[in-house]
Amino acid sequence: MEVILLIVGVLVEISAKAVDKVFEYHVPKSLEKSIKVGIRVLVPFGNMKLVGFVLEIKNEKTTTKDLKEIISIIDKDIVLNKELLELGNTMKNMTLATLISCYQVMLPKALKAKVNNNVSIKYDIFYKLNLNYDKTLKFNSSQEKIIELVSNNKVLKKDLVEISLSSLNTLVKKGVLIEEKCEHYRLNYENEKKDNKILTSDQEKVVNEVINNSPNTYLLHGVTGSGKTLVYMEIIDYYLKKGKTSIVLVPEISLTPQMIERFKSRFGNNIAAIHSSLSDGEKYDEYRRISRGEAKIVIGARSAIFAPLSNIGIIIIDEEHSDSYKQSDPSPRYHARDIAILRSKYHNCSVLLGSATPSLETMARALKGVYKLLEIKNRINGNLPKVNIIDMNKEIKKVRGHFSLELIDKIRERLEKKEQIILLLNRRGYSSFVTCKNCGYTFKCPQCDITLTYHKSSNTLRCHYCGYGEKVYDTCPSCKEKALSNLGIGTEKIEEELTSIFPSNKILRMDYDTTSKKGMHEKMIDKFKNHEYDILLGTQMVSKGLDFKDVTLVGVINADTSLNIPDFRSSENTFSLLSQVAGRSGRSEKEGEVIIQTYNPDHYAISLTKNHNYLEFYKREMNIRRQLKYPPYYYICNIRVKGKDSKYTLNEAIKIRNSLERNFKSTIILGPNSSSLFKINNIYRYNIILKYKKEDSLYLVLSKVLDHYKNNNKIKVDIDFNPSQML
Ligand code: ADP
Ligand code: ZN
Repeated sequence: MEVILLIVGVLVEISAKAVDKVFEYHVPKSLEKSIKVGIRVLVPFGNMKLVGFVLEIKNEKTTTKDLKEIISIIDKDIVLNKELLELGNTMKNMTLATLISCYQVMLPKALKAKVNNNVSIKYDIFYKLNLNYDKTLKFNSSQEKIIELVSNNKVLKKDLVEISLSSLNTLVKKGVLIEEKCEHYRLNYENEKKDNKILTSDQEKVVNEVINNSPNTYLLHGVTGSGKTLVYMEIIDYYLKKGKTSIVLVPEISLTPQMIERFKSRFGNNIAAIHSSLSDGEKYDEYRRISRGEAKIVIGARSAIFAPLSNIGIIIIDEEHSDSYKQSDPSPRYHARDIAILRSKYHNCSVLLGSATPSLETMARALKGVYKLLEIKNRINGNLPKVNIIDMNKEIKKVRGHFSLELIDKIRERLEKKEQIILLLNRRGYSSFVTCKNCGYTFKCPQCDITLTYHKSSNTLRCHYCGYGEKVYDTCPSCKEKALSNLGIGTEKIEEELTSIFPSNKILRMDYDTTSKKGMHEKMIDKFKNHEYDILLGTQMVSKGLDFKDVTLVGVINADTSLNIPDFRSSENTFSLLSQVAGRSGRSEKEGEVIIQTYNPDHYAISLTKNHNYLEFYKREMNIRRQLKYPPYYYICNIRVKGKDSKYTLNEAIKIRNSLERNFKSTIILGPNSSSLFKINNIYRYNIILKYKKEDSLYLVLSKVLDHYKNNNKIKVDIDFNPSQML
């Protein structure tokens, strides 16, 4: 007799161009009822067993094909719904990543297609009374106590075990009690507290504009301290009351408990917060609350844009200029802003981008009318802080360590008033490295060709790319002289200097090293808020999102380092960093001040921060971008060719360039050049950079390049559209 079987198309977990397609399998009769599009299944693949997503179910039942059978079904409920399935396809076309990588990036670890994915659901076990139990049974006293407890409602196992485990077991065995398993979410949220601030008229105008118009993409350009967060919350509240859901994206480093607290205290259990300090289990719990519709507002970093909400009313991206919204590595190299706009089309809702210093790309679109521009020009308290720029060239004789006398005086003034201070050590593009004063030798990572960074606490030199480490020598390995010096400054060094200038004050250092332990970042912010410290010293981490009412002075130790990064966005990044950190000062009643120490006081990215003049900066920078054919006038695409054999890799890169030249009409092609991160983990990297306005065959030609190398294991080609950094 002929057996007729169902056929499914499965996309397996391996992310490689060569296998990035749907493979067909038969569904055994016993599993037919449970098979659905969007769930995971285990399938045989070569001589492996792999997990994959079911992407299609074919109606033609046939046995003419010789197919393998799926082994088992993993999910009861759908993991990838219709919207996400479609979105994955669009992302693949936009980024040229593999389809499987697009789906994987949307999901928490627990739901990714992956063999041995050990993230589990936690359960609470309850017992309740079986109303039909045998009434002739006799009980001892602890058994009676248990029965009394459960007679009205179900009771947690742990409370019954306390009375007597053996009695509990006996009652279960005799059918008096029924066990019930309930999912237990690891996180718990407090109840709502009403935040009874009244909107200012500026805030109200923005809120009304967004909720009263048909769906659009808005840019809210609001100075620091203009109350953007309250605007977001009002809009979210409006949609919540209409039964609609919301997504709020914030950069990871400003996703502090302070931020989450503001949302939680207003929206209580409607909030799901997804951030990197959650465990995989906690992330899975949050994800289930979202997909079940129990959480209606999702707040999170980049990947929260994929939250499986239905009926979305608004998508908000705070600090929209942040480069953390672009995933650089691994692929898919997507931008959360693009995904937000795609999802808004599906849900017919608005997107609200907010920033005090919007990216040039976004501002240009807003000024052209592609996005709708909304502005708040004034702070809630009326005053932006006064900014003083200190020319360090003139201060050389008067400095103590890295501190100008003026900065020291200002710090002292604030300390005397019991106010607080934030100091930024700009480490962007900067590292503290060791060099030989005699012969100029610098220590580099043998695997990455990157200058090693000095870590005082462990007295080691470490590579920030691959983690390679070595002990510090006292003689130079090249000239054998005892002439090594620690040239750079790190936060530790600045902390030392500060302590010697202000020995009786408490200094809190916040950087990558001091916050790497889970929960430390949160604790530090709490302690600073409670005035356990006077001065908060840190890297970029102190520049965003913080809102302390007693901080009245912000000092920037070195404004310049980020100007020297070989990247066309270095001015923009510097201006926005300085504006953001300046914005931490004087946010409440007390007037704020900012001191910026620099060796380039006349550079426009620095001088224009003095009057918080974003628009002037925008004009100047746009001019340069136009002249040099950079975004937003041109699009950029970086093609990275990587391989172990430097010569072979370069040769292939040249071949790629030549073929692009033959195929493109109007695109400017630069390179191949060795990347500024030339050698990472013994892999050499060459970049080919494309600048284009419109190139019809762009995606087609680049897909062919990727296809050409899909089975070549000596070369890997990465494509990054609109790269956030040129690495
Ligand atoms: P931004 O995100 O624009 O930098 P925030 O939303 O953090 O600004 O607001 C700055 C400060 O002003 C916060 O301490 C906030 O609580 C306060 N604030 C915001 N809106 C109002 C309002 N309408 N009335 C009183 N205080 C407000
Ligand atoms: Zn390295």
